[in-house]
Amino acid sequence: MGIMGNRVEQMKTSATVGIADKASRLRQQGYSVIDFSAGRAFEATPDYVSQAASDALLSGDTHQTMALGTPEFRKACATKLSRDNFLEADWETEIIATMGVKQALTLALLGVVNTGDDVLVEDPCFVSYMPLINIAGGQAHHLPLKPKNNFRWTRDQLQQAVTDRTRAILFNSPQNPTGTVHNRNDLEVIADVAQAHDLIVITDEIYERVAWDGRQHICMASLPEMRERTITCMGLTKTFSMGGWRIGFIFAEANIVSGLMKLQQHLLTCASSFTQAGAAAAMKEPPRTEVNDLWREWEARCTLMSEGLNDISGLSCAKPEGGFYAWVDISATGYTSQELAKRLLDEEQVAVVPGSAFGPSGEGYIRINCVKSREELHEGLIRIRRFLT
Ligand code: PMP
Repeated sequence: MGIMGNRVEQMKTSATVGIADKASRLRQQGYSVIDFSAGRAFEATPDYVSQAASDALLSGDTHQTMALGTPEFRKACATKLSRDNFLEADWETEIIATMGVKQALTLALLGVVNTGDDVLVEDPCFVSYMPLINIAGGQAHHLPLKPKNNFRWTRDQLQQAVTDRTRAILFNSPQNPTGTVHNRNDLEVIADVAQAHDLIVITDEIYERVAWDGRQHICMASLPEMRERTITCMGLTKTFSMGGWRIGFIFAEANIVSGLMKLQQHLLTCASSFTQAGAAAAMKEPPRTEVNDLWREWEARCTLMSEGLNDISGLSCAKPEGGFYAWVDISATGYTSQELAKRLLDEEQVAVVPGSAFGPSGEGYIRINCVKSREELHEGLIRIRRFLT
C-alpha cells in the first residue's frame, strides 16, 4: 500500500494547471511559449479594488473575520445579487464568503453529498468537479453535452439519468469549456427535473458577467421555487482578474448556509480579511468604466480568436456564447486531443488543453484561452496554422 490514502491515490492531477506549469518550465528554459492553457487573463485587478484591499491591510484589517465573512463583504454580495441577478438575499444568513469558487464548490459538495451519492455533471466540464465530488464521497455521473444539441442537455437525457442514488445536479454557466450560456429554457429543464426528483442544484457562475452578443446570464436561484434548492457559487477570479486573491461566495437559503458555516469553521476559519475588503469594493457599486471596457475587449478577442481558428483548415470553432474559451473541433485533423496538444507544445511551443481532460465527450476538441494579448493570439494562430499545414 502506498503512503497516500485512496482518495488521493485515485485522484488525477489538474490537466489545466499541469499544462500551464509545463509551459512555465519551458519559458524558464528560454523558449518563447504561447500559453493558451489555463483560464487566466493577464490584466491586473482594477486599481480601485486593489486600493480597497491595500487600505484594509494597512489599517490593521489583518485578523480572522466571522466564518460567514465580514458584514461589509456580505452586504456587498447582497447588493450585487439584487442589482445584477434579480436575487434578494439576506446578507446576515444567506451569504458565506469563500476562498474562490473552488472552495465554494467544495463546501457545497461536502455539505450535501452523502457517501455513494451520484452528482450529475456536464460532460465536458471543469476539471475539478470530479475530484471534488469524490472528496465528498460521491460519484460524478457525466452526462454528455452534444454538439447536435448545441452543447446543452435535453429534457429526456436528464430525466433518464436520474436514479435513486442521484442527490444533486452541478452545472456551470457560462460553461467551461464549451462556452454555452444556459438560456431560460435550459434552466427550466434542469429545474423541472430537480423539483420532480427532489434534487439539490449547485451552480458554478464564475463567468456570469462575461456573456457575449448581448446575452444575459440568468441565475438558477431566480427561477420559481428554485431558491430553496439551489446553492449559487460566485466569484471574482475571472471577471475582475482576481485569480490570486482567492475570493468568492455562496448564496443559499439560511438552513443551507448555517450547515456550510460549520464546515467553514473547521476547514478554513474564514476567507481572508483584506481580500474580502477588496472584493466588497468591486461588488458594492456597478462595475466601473475600466471593468466594462475590459469585458468588451475580452469579447473582441474571443471573436478574433474563434474566427482565426475557424479559418485554419481542419479546425472548426464557433464564437463562445460566453466565458473566454474557444472550444475547437479538431476531429478533421486526424489527431487525438492529447496528441495534438502534446505536439503543439513540443513542436510549436503553443500550450492548449486536450478536450479529453474535461471528460469523455471532450475527445475531438482542444480548449484555447482567448484572453491573452492580441499579439499572443496572432502569433498563436500563425504557429497552429503552420503546424497543421
Ligand atoms: N469553476 C470554473 C468553471 C472554472 O473555470 C474555474 C477556474 N478555472 C473555477 C471554478 C475556479 O475558480 P476559483 O479560482 O475562484 O477557485
